[in-house]
Amino acid sequence: MRNKNDKDSKILVVGAGTMGPGIAQVFATGGYMTILTDIKKEALEMAKQKIQSNLETLIAAGEISKEDADVCWNNIAFTLWPLQKNPDADFVLEAVPEIPDLKAQVFKELDDLCRDETILSSTTSALNIFELVKVSNPERLIITHFCNPPHIIPLVEIVLGPKTSFETLEKVKGILKSCGKIPVVIKQYIPGFLVNRLNAALIREAAYIVSKGWADWEDVDMAFKLNAGLKAPFEGPLESVDYMGWDVAMFAGMFLLPHLCNATSIEFAEEMVSKGLLGVKSGGGLRDYTGKSRLEIEKNRSLKILKILKAARELERIR
Ligand code: NAD
Repeated sequence: MRNKNDKDSKILVVGAGTMGPGIAQVFATGGYMTILTDIKKEALEMAKQKIQSNLETLIAAGEISKEDADVCWNNIAFTLWPLQKNPDADFVLEAVPEIPDLKAQVFKELDDLCRDETILSSTTSALNIFELVKVSNPERLIITHFCNPPHIIPLVEIVLGPKTSFETLEKVKGILKSCGKIPVVIKQYIPGFLVNRLNAALIREAAYIVSKGWADWEDVDMAFKLNAGLKAPFEGPLESVDYMGWDVAMFAGMFLLPHLCNATSIEFAEEMVSKGLLGVKSGGGLRDYTGKSRLEIEKNRSLKILKILKAARELERIR
């Protein structure tokens, strides 16, 4: 069990919606004093319930002990934004909605509130924070893009700005690793970073095949799950070519690439949205989720991810 005083850095997470609670939970369970703040009291109340449910899932999966959950609750505080006093934070993680003006305003307030050396980071999925926000000492500005659900997915994409210092990068990497996260570094801002660029390319092609009527969505998904999906926990798309052969990849690319979708929008997604089929959050997407609780659906999915994660860790160990 980690002691609440093991780690000196103090963390502030701004925004307690989909991402903020899980992110705050990661730091608090990792042994850091963490404040989670939001403009809405209801969001903070909901955040407590989410964290409780997340911790139960992790305990059920054998990922953490009951004592670790106690450490999380001991280390976390919930406070309404705007904060009444200087948060004394060493590392701030902004997780407010993806609205450029809102992010700019929040960073302005954080710049005023925090010490000059406090690291300021955003978990934006897409925005170029380095152009959007103005802070004194931009060498401490960095993107730390967590994946959903943040308390389960180990990957965090770190994106460096033109002025981000090596010390900022090392400190952020250190904190993330000490909480069990695995950071990857993107050396400059590029739209979509790594995860969303790869996802977008795959989803575009998969949706294209379905909208052309060449295969049903279940079969397209199965083709992924039972081939690349089986290897994905230990081998990425690039390393996999070492087994296929780069000559094969070269000729396959020459033949195949002209036939692939290169549209700049996903027609199939537009159709789904126009029908109100947004997925789990609207009660229906490709599947029907009516009558099922969103929290329960997400919990079941988290348990599946945790099982795969265990196997993936085992494979890395015996490699
Ligand atoms: P969300 O809308 O679910 O939650 C945002 C929270 O911020 C809300 O509770 C809101 O009340 C609060 N908020 C708004 N203004 C505020 C302010 N001035 N001060 C404090 N709190 C304020 O958003 P989200 O989905 O959690 O996304 C947050 C960030 O994380 C976005 O930049 C998003 O792109 C990124 N992200 C989202 C996901 C995802 O799956 N949702 C995944 C990775 C990254």
